[in-house]
Amino acid sequence: MSDANSTGWRVAVVGSGPAAFYTAEALFKSVEGAQVDLFDRLPAPFGLVRGGVAPDHQKIKSVVKVYDKIAKDPGFRFFGNVKLGRDVSVEDLAAHYHQIVYAFGCESDQKLGVEGEDLAGVYAATDFVGWYNGHPDHREHRFDLKNARRVALVGNGNVAMDVARILLASPDELQKTDIAEHAMPTLRESRVEEVVLLGRRGPAQAAFSPKEIEEIAVIDGIDVVVSKQDAELDELSAKWLEESGARSQKRNVEFVQRCAEAGEPQGNKRLRCRFLVSPSALFGENGKLTAVRIDHMQLQADDTGTPRPRPTGTTEQLEVDLLFKAIGYRGEPVPGVPFEDRKGIVPNVDGRVVEAVGGDVRVGHYCAGWCKRGPTGLIGTNSADAKATVVAMLEDKQSGKALTPAADDIESLLQERSIDAVTWADWQRLDEWERREGEKRGKLRHKLASVEELMAVVRELRGSDE
Ligand code: NAP
Repeated sequence: MSDANSTGWRVAVVGSGPAAFYTAEALFKSVEGAQVDLFDRLPAPFGLVRGGVAPDHQKIKSVVKVYDKIAKDPGFRFFGNVKLGRDVSVEDLAAHYHQIVYAFGCESDQKLGVEGEDLAGVYAATDFVGWYNGHPDHREHRFDLKNARRVALVGNGNVAMDVARILLASPDELQKTDIAEHAMPTLRESRVEEVVLLGRRGPAQAAFSPKEIEEIAVIDGIDVVVSKQDAELDELSAKWLEESGARSQKRNVEFVQRCAEAGEPQGNKRLRCRFLVSPSALFGENGKLTAVRIDHMQLQADDTGTPRPRPTGTTEQLEVDLLFKAIGYRGEPVPGVPFEDRKGIVPNVDGRVVEAVGGDVRVGHYCAGWCKRGPTGLIGTNSADAKATVVAMLEDKQSGKALTPAADDIESLLQERSIDAVTWADWQRLDEWERREGEKRGKLRHKLASVEELMAVVRELRGSDE
């Protein structure tokens, strides 16, 4: 599906994670001669693939090879270290491009909304994930693992699985990955022995993938522990599971039941999975978390038949040293871009940005990925999502609904403003440098974890290449 008349079609994509790359790919396949410029506020690309995917999950991270291929298209450009709302505005982009795609993800976290959430020792999983992955926003976080034996982990998704693994895994193994160097001393002095996973619904509704929980059980030195009571399926869930035919959920339930049958092994570190429990208050002493009150829950079908948790009226107090909230990411407003506060996303209809829910379409503005649909799905989900946005973009292009840029190349504007944008060639040199430095340290990559450090090396490598 090529359009020979389209040479000169320029698209700005804000973000450089999976959704951004899949958008570029779909555009290159559809519009001959398209120019697609990816903007990222950080000097390094790849969004959550670099800053979110766990360092011991290198197979998942290898998806960047696909993105490297997309970047080979002659119409591809990268402008790293350029922040929308600081260095360039939405108006600047509209003056230079025919279409703009927002693909900046969801950069914040959901709140529990319970008493005691601001106590020391209560952490957002998103901060921990960013910290061990060397994301510059999270470098300064501190996690008091030295004084912790039992940790509560709220949420039953794959982020919770990542956090549990990193908290319980051997630091010697993690050291060999591309984990942030600054995380290692803290992980080495950790005294965490037990992570208690608190899921507000049952094992049949757990959001983690079977592979992710099963993987933890086979790591040397870690047991996954479930009580028979926790593994038991209530009537509603059993019926729901049968009717929905959901294979992953069935596999999760079978796994959890096998763990319950195995009983309580001794000696290893533990991931203890609790179900139908929800934190309702956090207690502390001298400003530091000491315990969590958990409400026991039961499931009731909502109007759509989906089992939802309701308190039974029974509560229990669990003594814990730390608590991590892994209850989901949340989008943040970006200057000049409409924001739907209820869902934390860019309001849109099938990828076309609207001024507000139910409002007018903002012609020429689109979104893709998490900021379009919310923080759900695996990396590959963003491919279909981006393609759907590009279908809308092509329809609008055909019918003449686009921006009418007054200028062509944004580079002159960036130069005028003395913005030191990182090009794809800069990134390739930096990438090689990080790998080489990693090799010297016996690991896959030595990730630089601050914008200043990244930019210093980018500039140094530019100099050495001339
Ligand atoms: P998620 O999959 O949406 O899971 C969030 C969990 O938090 C759910 O179990 C949810 O329970 C629970 N929760 C939400 N609000 C809560 C509250 N107030 N109290 C108690 N529990 C609450 O989100 P995620 O783990 O952040 O992951 C985001 C996306 O990235 C997911 O699609 C995930 O699969 C993906 N991811 C994939 C990988 C991988 O493949 N290795 C790794 C990390 C992330 P309810 O179901 O009851 O709402």
